[in-house]
Amino acid sequence: MTDASRPLATEKEARDVAEQARETEWEHPSFARELFLGRFRPELIHPHPPPDLAEEARAKPFMDKLQAFMDKVSSEEIDRTGEIPEVLVQELRDMGAFGIKIPKEYGGLGLSQMSYIRAMELVTSKDGSLVALLSASQSIGVPQPLKLFGTDDQKKRFFPRLAKGAISAFALTEVDAGSDPANMHTTATPTEDGEHFLINGEKLWCTNGTRAELFVVMARTPDVEKNGKTSKQITAFIVDASMPGVEVAHRLRFMGLKAIENGVIRFTNVKVPRENILWGEGKGLKLALVTLNTGRLTLPAGCAGAAKSMLRIARTWANERVQWGQPIGKHEAVAQKIAKMASMTFAMEAVAEMATALYEKGGYDIRLEAAIAKMYNSEAGWRIIDDTLQIRGGRGYEMAESLARRGEKPIAVERAMRDYRINLIFEGSSEIMRLFIAREAVDHHFKMAFDIVKPESTMKERLAAMARSTPFYLTWYPTRWVGMGQLKTYGEFGKLAKHMRYLERTTRHLGRSIFHAMVRYGPKLERKQAVLFRAVDIGAELFAMSAACSRAVMLAKGGRKEAIALADTFCREARLRVEEHFRNLYGPNDENMYKLAMSVLKGEHAWLEHGIAAADSEMGLPELEGSMSQIHGAGELVGKNEVYALAE
Ligand SMILES: Cc1cc2nc3c(=O)[nH]c(=O)nc-3n(C[C@H](O)[C@H](O)[C@H](O)COP(=O)(O)OP(=O)(O)OC[C@H]3O[C@@H](n4cnc5c(N)ncnc54)[C@H](O)[C@@H]3O)c2cc1C
Repeated sequence: MTDASRPLATEKEARDVAEQARETEWEHPSFARELFLGRFRPELIHPHPPPDLAEEARAKPFMDKLQAFMDKVSSEEIDRTGEIPEVLVQELRDMGAFGIKIPKEYGGLGLSQMSYIRAMELVTSKDGSLVALLSASQSIGVPQPLKLFGTDDQKKRFFPRLAKGAISAFALTEVDAGSDPANMHTTATPTEDGEHFLINGEKLWCTNGTRAELFVVMARTPDVEKNGKTSKQITAFIVDASMPGVEVAHRLRFMGLKAIENGVIRFTNVKVPRENILWGEGKGLKLALVTLNTGRLTLPAGCAGAAKSMLRIARTWANERVQWGQPIGKHEAVAQKIAKMASMTFAMEAVAEMATALYEKGGYDIRLEAAIAKMYNSEAGWRIIDDTLQIRGGRGYEMAESLARRGEKPIAVERAMRDYRINLIFEGSSEIMRLFIAREAVDHHFKMAFDIVKPESTMKERLAAMARSTPFYLTWYPTRWVGMGQLKTYGEFGKLAKHMRYLERTTRHLGRSIFHAMVRYGPKLERKQAVLFRAVDIGAELFAMSAACSRAVMLAKGGRKEAIALADTFCREARLRVEEHFRNLYGPNDENMYKLAMSVLKGEHAWLEHGIAAADSEMGLPELEGSMSQIHGAGELVGKNEVYALAE
């Protein structure tokens, strides 16, 4: 529950904190950024990098071990017991699965980000709890920020432990600070000699927290005054779970990911040496954002892995199951779903691979591509799981164990659905991803011309903005209507060339539309989430189409010509979605919907809720002992570093 005695940040403070953490400069190119500016630059992503055979050979011994491990693991048992047995964790440690990207000199496998995401894709295709364990440790836990921002001394101290399998966790979220870190209450107070900090506070939903040896903890260090303005400082610390005052307060249980090692972690006067600060005082939130740029590459690959598993289930069942005289896959309604799933799965893998390949290439800013990949793949995968469940019919809703008991194959679509849903919430919810992408999408225009329309601008600021923006817009705007790009034939793309030409002209259309929206709404555009989100969705579709076309051409050149049909179908469908978004860009119903929502929130339609029973949650908190806590682990208190044992 939110603690009413603790003040929450105002909207302005929340925005200020987010702005401070933003990477404001674009030192390197970005295909997605160019898209939102109306400039289609396929040369930034095409040709799609072919597989790196040398890296694949290096990764093979590990990938073979991981494949053999995953083939024998019983995900049903992990789900049913809510525990990952220690022997399995040890086996993962022994094969180096906790140090995939840690450089060899520190005892890690020293593999690339691409090998890492392939490994996570494989694990996700079967088991959500296992991937949470591995990925929270390596995508957002200590190794990633340590690699990016750690000092040599920190690397020497922590990498060898992590490579051997010390589990790590990332602790940012708090009760009041979910999407909004400005509400963070955990503090890190410097000791008098300045050599240490005392951390006090509680972190919520910390994945691996109940089993971690090392944490990255975000905490507020003293505010600083800059130009008469107070600015909140958030700093990242490496905290060892063995430090006095670190306590697992609760093990938390969820709808899916039944064996995730997630908890409320309490820090009471935890004395952390200054040399455990990562990067620098006040840089914690920026560190979190930069870490997540690469951290976010894992989840889209995992979603593609889950989509592939669903495709296999749906394909097999749609062939096997005969109703109304035909395999159900031959009935058009089901066939449509299968075609959508296959083409979407292809595009999802293209998106995940493209974003990762751009990161590996270096000299490229992937912040937008990673955010789009996270948002796009998590949502696309959810629709695929939903369609798979529908195709499996009643069997899709039935638990695998129950299917097995009556002699059918234990195909766990319901578990996949439970495990998958969180992907749209953590590592940046879909809404927050859209806000993040929208902020970057309009950034160039804001920098150029915002002062012209901002009510509080002085005349001097307005004139300066006009002087700076006029030369840019004089050439940029007309060329968003007609441009040299229109003359390109994209012959190399064969059957997909028509989609490339569509991408070229639609990218210009997107650029114009964002500009028009800015002129129409001025500074109020920031609050027009529905409009901005449609523009973001158009950009995301265009990115996915580009990635799919480029990947299909690469695969076709290597002999896999069938990829062209998948990319073609994906693009045809994506174009329909794009056109729909353009048609409704200004949302003819947006205002009406907002008004209705406000009146619903005021309770003016509470009469709609009449005739329903009192929910359990309205009957007071469940008993801490007895059946409720046994089922949900609600309120269970465990000692420091103790692993919660499910009471059975
Ligand atoms: C299983 C699990 C594992 C997790 N693991 C970790 C972890 O390892 N480390 C960690 O630090 N955190 C972790 N989290 C926390 C997770 O990242 C947060 O749940 C997430 O950031 C969202 O915060 P919230 O749930 O408080 O939602 P809120 O911020 O309360 O948001 C609620 C809803 O409002 C929307 N919303 C919020 N603000 C806006 C806005 N300005 N505009 C439009 N919509 C908005 C959100 O998108 C969401 O739909 C985990 C959570 C879960 C459930």
